[in-house]
Amino acid sequence: MMDLHTHTVFSDGVGRISDNIAEAERRMLGMVGISDHIHYFTPATFNRYVSSIERFKKESEITVLAGIEANITPDSPDITDEMAKRLDYVIASAHVWLEPGRVNVYLELIKAALQDENVDVIGHFSNVFPYIGYPEEEELMEVIELAEANGKAFEISSRYKVPELSFVKACIQRGVKLTLGSDAHMPRDVGRIGWSLKLLRKAGGRMEDLLFSELL
Ligand SMILES: [Zn+2]
Ligand SMILES: [Zn+2]
Repeated sequence: MMDLHTHTVFSDGVGRISDNIAEAERRMLGMVGISDHIHYFTPATFNRYVSSIERFKKESEITVLAGIEANITPDSPDITDEMAKRLDYVIASAHVWLEPGRVNVYLELIKAALQDENVDVIGHFSNVFPYIGYPEEEELMEVIELAEANGKAFEISSRYKVPELSFVKACIQRGVKLTLGSDAHMPRDVGRIGWSLKLLRKAGGRMEDLLFSELL
C-alpha cells in the first residue's frame, strides 16, 4: 500500500524524513511520499529536502517519492517549473478561506489546477463542501472530465475523509487515477490510510486505479 501525503519538519510536521520512512517500513507500506507544504521552503531548504529524499530512496527498502503540497491560489498553483522538475509528484490543494455559498469559486480554483502542467494530484478535494456548500452533480462531472483530459489524479484523504464514494466511483469509471494519503503531521500517523483504502475498495477500485501502482 501507499501513503503519498506526509509532512515533516521541513514544513509543519514534527518528524524527520527518516522518521516518516521508518514508520512506513514498520507498517509494511510499499511506498511512502514526502509532501511538505511549499510555502515553508527557501531555495536552500528545498535543495536539502530533495537531496535528502534522494539519499533515502537508495537506502530504503520501500519506494520513497519526493513530493510537495502546493497551494492553489487565485492566480494559479504556486509551484514553479524549476521545483516541479526535481520532484516525483506535486499535490495541489485549495487552502483558501471562502464564504458559505462560494462553491463555484472553489471549483474554478480546482479547474485551474487541473490544467496546470506541474500538478499531478488534487489534495483533499471537496473537504470544504460542508462550509461552502455542495455543487451540482454535473459540476462535479465537469471536474472529473477535466482531470481525465489532463491526466490528473485525486487524493482519497484519510484525514478529511473525502471525496465521497460516488465521486471516487466516477473517477474509476473514467480512468482517473487516485492516491491514498494520511496527511500525517507526525510520524506515528504515517500509513494511516485505512479509511482511504476502504473507500477505494467500496468504489470497486483496484491497484491499477492508483497513481504509481507500477512502483508498488
Ligand atoms: Zn492540505
Ligand atoms: Zn497536507
